[in-house]
Amino acid sequence: MNIDSSNVSERDNHLPDKNDWQYLLSEFQSISHDFLNKLESKSVATLSPELAASGLSEKGEGMTELLNTLKSALLPQMSASRGPRYWGFVTGGSTPVATFADWMVSLLDQNVAKGGDSIATQIERQTIEWLVELFDLPSSFTGLFTTGATASNFLAAVTARQFAGQQQDIDVAKAGMRALDVEVFSACPHASMIKTLGLAGFGQHNIVWVNTEANSEKMDTQDLAHRLETSSAKSKIVISSAATVTGTSFDDLQHIAEVCQEHKAWLHVDAAFGIFERLLSYETSDGDYVSAGLELADSITLDGHKWLNVPYDSGIFLTRHQELLFQSCHVAAPYLVNSGNGPDYMSLGIENSRRFRAFPTWMTLFSYGREGVAWWVKKNREQAQQLASYIDKSVGYQLVYPCDLNVVLFKPAGKTDCAEVLRQINQTGRLFLSPGKWDGEDIMRAAICNWQTEQTDIDIAINVLEEVAATLS
Ligand SMILES: *Cc1c(COP(=O)(O)O)cnc(C)c1O
Repeated sequence: MNIDSSNVSERDNHLPDKNDWQYLLSEFQSISHDFLNKLESKSVATLSPELAASGLSEKGEGMTELLNTLKSALLPQMSASRGPRYWGFVTGGSTPVATFADWMVSLLDQNVAKGGDSIATQIERQTIEWLVELFDLPSSFTGLFTTGATASNFLAAVTARQFAGQQQDIDVAKAGMRALDVEVFSACPHASMIKTLGLAGFGQHNIVWVNTEANSEKMDTQDLAHRLETSSAKSKIVISSAATVTGTSFDDLQHIAEVCQEHKAWLHVDAAFGIFERLLSYETSDGDYVSAGLELADSITLDGHKWLNVPYDSGIFLTRHQELLFQSCHVAAPYLVNSGNGPDYMSLGIENSRRFRAFPTWMTLFSYGREGVAWWVKKNREQAQQLASYIDKSVGYQLVYPCDLNVVLFKPAGKTDCAEVLRQINQTGRLFLSPGKWDGEDIMRAAICNWQTEQTDIDIAINVLEEVAATLS
């Protein structure tokens, strides 16, 4: 099974051939080495990428041409988002073990729809159990991997919908929402939650807005209690945050859960990256752990492809009410019978055919353990605080909000245009930040969630900020 590239180019057709493995594996190895070795010197982002226009190839261009194009035109225009100084949005970077696992996922190409033909289903189930343990949640939480936190929030919306239906003797999955009398309450939901409330039929514009506490994105629990009290809807759903994506505010989940119980409301908590706080258990000024009460939620969204540093396609949905999720996602079909060991994943999620997306998380937890994950989470939080304290003292920038977790919010000092400064920073290719809003004003966000980020990266970032500030004064 050994062929070299000259053989590949001499072929008179471009059809798949089992002799291609060796060639592609050796190319893959050298490309991987090259990409990883250059990761830290490569431009962190390609701000204006260009793909040559081209029509569909009739006979195929073949692998030699493919690899030429890949190396010359595509790879140089990729971002270094897996690297140590891509701080836009909330972006992790896959670790060596997680990346290896993802290669394995492609190699193995399992369909984790139902059990009965592979160990993959059991591995996904064990991964969920390990995550529940990692985050110190009760074992009554079960769930599954999704494509991302957005898909998890969608499952939260449909499960909550089914719960509301159950309160009103309507099987929403079967009968639809027409007769359902329900209200959704939220203070500062992630944009993806608003999107999924639209997808699930609640309507993006049909949210009862709860006040936030002053100068914070934290839900005002008293205001929530008041709104639930005065609502005439037969069913109520509360969407809470731990933490919000900009201010990293944690709602007071303990009290919110009590209020929800009192009003028989469903409580969903979007804890996409804030849940990693549980590995640090940092306290609020009044001595409570900030995510205390999370265990009382009816459902929880979390994201592996952020702070867990596994590749994309790693959202996680957890709920204490698997039967409602099952009712929402199961459809009876003769060729889709469940395998018998509890419901299969095709009856608990959006997709029927499913990528073996739990594997990178399984390998991560197997290999690095709780301490490994806690190591980079703690490190990133300290790095964010170091950056925040530099910004707070700097002449060129102004910290707009104290950094509690791993997101630093700031803007240029004085009246300088924030968007322009952000563009200049990203243009250096040494650092990548993303925009945000705070109190109606444009700001920049630096979110640090990468295992690879080191002191030298913080130093480089500070140099970039100093250089850009100098050109402005
Ligand atoms: C990132 C994020 C999401 C969306 O996650 P995707 O994985 O991008 O779909 C949802 N909620 C919160 C709080 C997030 O930070």
